[in-house]
Order: sequence, then structure tokens, then C-alpha cells
Amino acid sequence: MKISELLKEKATISFEVFPPKNKEGDISSIYYTIEELAKLDPDFISVTYGAGGSSKGKTVEIASAIKNKYQIESVAHLSCITSTKEDILTECRALKEHNVDNILSLRGDYPAGEEEKYRGMDLEFHYASELNGFIRENFGDSFCLSGACYPEVHQEADCFRDDLEALKKKVDAGAEYLITQIFFDNSYYYRLVKEARKIGIDVPILAGIMPVTNAKSLLRTAKLCGCSIPFQLSTMIETYYNYPEAMKEIGINYAAHQIIDLITNGVDGIHIYTMNKPEIAQRIFGNIPTVLKELNHD
Ligand code: FAD
Repeated sequence: MKISELLKEKATISFEVFPPKNKEGDISSIYYTIEELAKLDPDFISVTYGAGGSSKGKTVEIASAIKNKYQIESVAHLSCITSTKEDILTECRALKEHNVDNILSLRGDYPAGEEEKYRGMDLEFHYASELNGFIRENFGDSFCLSGACYPEVHQEADCFRDDLEALKKKVDAGAEYLITQIFFDNSYYYRLVKEARKIGIDVPILAGIMPVTNAKSLLRTAKLCGCSIPFQLSTMIETYYNYPEAMKEIGINYAAHQIIDLITNGVDGIHIYTMNKPEIAQRIFGNIPTVLKELNHD
């Protein structure tokens, strides 16, 4: 089923997982993660795509298992910056063969340390909007496409307005809903939605929430994603930096508070970056079961 169809009926709750990284290339631990997340009855689970296509076979395999073995809708992330058109055709055909109907269509980033190599090359794709166009051209409407968006502006964009105009192009090229980059201050999400609507971006915008349960990783992730840390949260981090259990409680409760506020304000959907830690998602759900029901999700 296409996620765009689901979004016509209700605001969704979804999770993101990534193919486990280990030397042996063994991904079996993901199945425990999915089984635990399945207990929370999500509307869909998305699977990331490693930078430079490093996890491509695994993304298809995991997205297929979510859909065919666990009977949960799945979304396969697919990035294009280092891909040829032939690579994309191969990837999309594999997704079709496995009945995966949904693609989160991304530009992606160059693999770390290989920026110079790619900058000198004649790339076949430059933006996610081109990937959308290419998939539509070759597969018609058979996939539901979605895209990424950035409440605090994509790091390479000069300003909010330019990024918003680029987002409009991505939607016009076929993105049927959007998922945000993480943010810790909901005002950025509300600004994005308000300004997007003004320029005719009227597809659902799902809020990407990351419960960060470790001070070091919170600071690293925020820097990587270009997202700001509100004063209140940074004070908590400073105070509890050396208390991992307290940081976990803070991360879970902060995310739960963000979600309550978003639901109160009519969010189109909540997408939780689980970091393959289902117990954290379970604890968030355990804290706010009734609020989540308000999202038509019982
Ligand atoms: P684009 O939409 O192409 O935008 C990239 C930049 O170009 C922006 O600055 C934009 O303003 C500008 N731009 C876009 N179109 C135009 C245009 N037509 N003209 C001029 N400028 C333009 N990365 C992975 O490698 N794997 C993943 O699985 C993955 N999943 C993600 C999931 C979500 C929800 C999010 C928010 C991000 C994810 N990323 C992932 C990271 C993403 O690949 C990076 O943020 C990347 O830098 C941008 O990808 P994009 O698809 O948003 O790019």
C-alpha cells in the first residue's frame, strides 16, 4: 500500500531503522528490532540507505522483510548522488520484485572522505528532484515517492527561502509527502509547515523525532544535522552529562513532550528515528499512550 493513501485517512506513526553495521555484514539483529517495533503497531517502517549506496542490497532485503514477513508497510530510502541511472533502475526493479511500494527519494551525501573524488566527476543526478523525475519517467506512478525536508534549513542552502523553493521543486517532481530532519525545537517545524503551505506545498509533512539518550551522541548528531539545541535542553545535558541513566530519561521524556505538542497542534504524522533501539520507542509510547490514541492510533 502506498503511504500517500494511508495519509489521506489519518496522521501516521512510523519508525526509521538502519541496516546494522558490522564487519561480517550480518543483519540478523535487525529482525529483533523489527519484531519489537511491530508490537507498537506502526503505520510503516522506513529503512535507510548507506551513503554512496554502501548498504543497498541490505536496504531492499530489510524493506522486503518488513513488508512480506512482518506485514507492515515499508519505505526504502534511496539516494542518488553517487549512482548512475542504471544503478537506480536496478534498485527500483529489486524493490518492485519484493512488493515494496514506497521510496524515500534522496540526493544523499558523498561517502566520508570521498568528496573530492565525486566533485570532479560528471554526475548523473544532482538533486533529489531529478531522482523523482527519473523514477516517474521509468516507473510511472507505481511507487509512492517521498522526500526529506529541513526545518532548520539544509546545510548547503544559502537561506530558508532558497531551501523552500528547492523543496517545492522536489514536491512538483513527485514527492507525495515529506519527512523532516530531526529538530529539538518544535517552532522550526511549525515555521516550515506554515511557510511551505504559503508557496503551495500542500503534501503531508511528517515530523522526524529523535529521542537522543546519550549526551555525546546528542551533541554529535545535532552538529551533523545542523539542528540547534534549545537552552533548556542544553542545560539538562550539561547537568547530567556524566549520568547515562538520567540522560536516557531526559531523551525519552523530551521526545515524548515534543510529540505531545506536535499532536496538540495537528501534526500530519510522527516519524521516530529509532537508532535500532526499540526499547526507547517502547518507553516513549508507554509514557503517552492516550495522547497517541488521539492520533487515531489505538
Ligand atoms: P535535495 O533535496 O536534493 O537538496 C540538497 C540541497 O540542494 C539543498 O541545499 C537544497 O536546498 C538544494 N537544492 C535542491 N534542489 C535544488 C535545485 N533544483 N536547485 C538548486 N538547489 C537545489 N542520507 C543517506 O545517505 N541515506 C539515507 O537513508 C538518508 N535518509 C534521510 C532521511 C531523512 C528523513 C532526512 C531528512 C535525511 C536523510 N538523509 C539520508 C540525509 C540526506 O541525504 C542529506 O541531508 C543530503 O545532504 C540531502 O538530501 P536531499 O534529498 O534532501 O537533497
